[in-house]
Amino acid sequence: MVTIEEALNSIESQDIISKVETKPLQEVLGFALSEDIIAPFDMPAFDNSAMDGYALCGLHLEYKIVGEIAAGDVKEVPLQDGEAVRIFTGAKVPSSASAVMMQEKTKVEGDTLFLDEMPKAGQSIRKKGAELQKGQLVLQKGHVLNPSSLGLIGSLGLETVRVFSKPNIHMITTGNELVKPGQPKQEGQIYESNSYAIAGALEQFGFQCAQQQQVKDDFEETKKSIQKSMGTCDVLIVSGGISVGDYDFVKQALEENGVQELFYKVFQKPGKPLYFGRRDNQFVFALPGNPASSLTCFFIYVLPLLQKWSGHKDLGLPWYEFPLQHAYENRFDRPSFLKARIASDGVEILDGQGSSMIQSMALGNALAFVELGQKFKKGDLIKCKLIS
Ligand code: AMP
Ligand code: MG
Repeated sequence: MVTIEEALNSIESQDIISKVETKPLQEVLGFALSEDIIAPFDMPAFDNSAMDGYALCGLHLEYKIVGEIAAGDVKEVPLQDGEAVRIFTGAKVPSSASAVMMQEKTKVEGDTLFLDEMPKAGQSIRKKGAELQKGQLVLQKGHVLNPSSLGLIGSLGLETVRVFSKPNIHMITTGNELVKPGQPKQEGQIYESNSYAIAGALEQFGFQCAQQQQVKDDFEETKKSIQKSMGTCDVLIVSGGISVGDYDFVKQALEENGVQELFYKVFQKPGKPLYFGRRDNQFVFALPGNPASSLTCFFIYVLPLLQKWSGHKDLGLPWYEFPLQHAYENRFDRPSFLKARIASDGVEILDGQGSSMIQSMALGNALAFVELGQKFKKGDLIKCKLIS
């Protein structure tokens, strides 16, 4: 048995041979950069107007209007002191302009422009290089691309991006009692639900379950399906069959497929019988079958490994601290991840903390962490990870 910290250290310290690829900009949302992005030119690349209004030469209250510059115009308009040009947002500001005045603060009579107030030097001009300078580090290797990153990279004129590949993920669910939703079920059977929850959690974080198999609690069948998945997958997620019951064959079946155990059993609730192993550059998690255990283990342990595999700089969901809406004492015999709901008035620990109970997780949005025996008063800060 390992502690939570030891389990996380084991995952985060794995040497992983990541793959890189070049992908079109429209396909890299959620991927991590495999190389730094350096500004190829200043941003903005030229002084431009922040407003619709007038570019002014010299600082006065009255000007002669001598022309117009629209966004995209490439001409250079020379201005003499006391002259102004009509200008629009994003248009190139003449090099001789001192300021831009927004049109709301102007009046025009014929070709004379009157300002409501004195302009200030440099006002409403977005200066060349104000955001980024040529050669500057824009985004670091390992940065995970969010929508604004795509906009930023596009604005630098890049149409392809070098990123880390994502792992090919397979899943095996085990259990004689499991019936797929939509099929008739008999007394003693339950509907298989973990594959849906885990596939959904993968998708939520930009990963995909490429293949899923369902096996009976049978050693040979389990061993064969692991062998099949490990023919092609990078990461295998097994659900169920990893406890100490007479029908739990997953651990032995993994061993016989050459997978080496990195840890088995974590001092935590839920999800004690969690297994993590490796064969060369392939990784295996065997998650306990209870629905809340398997999903909790996904958020806490599987996700950082997938992120590490994919070259992310920061691993795992971040911890936040929020005040509790009520007093709470951890009466479980282990450090615990609790289904919780964060709202504007603080964190509520939800009813239904059993390992098999998933409704509380569906209604909640966070996992709160409590140490063994830890006691909280109302208003005390509690550590949480946001899961939705
Ligand atoms: P196990 O880890 O195989 O001992 O299973 C623990 C509990 O989780 C049992 O009550 C199983 O019926 C249940 N369980 C196992 N696998 C699944 C699954 N894929 N979907 C829903 N429940 C499951
Ligand atoms: Mg089972």
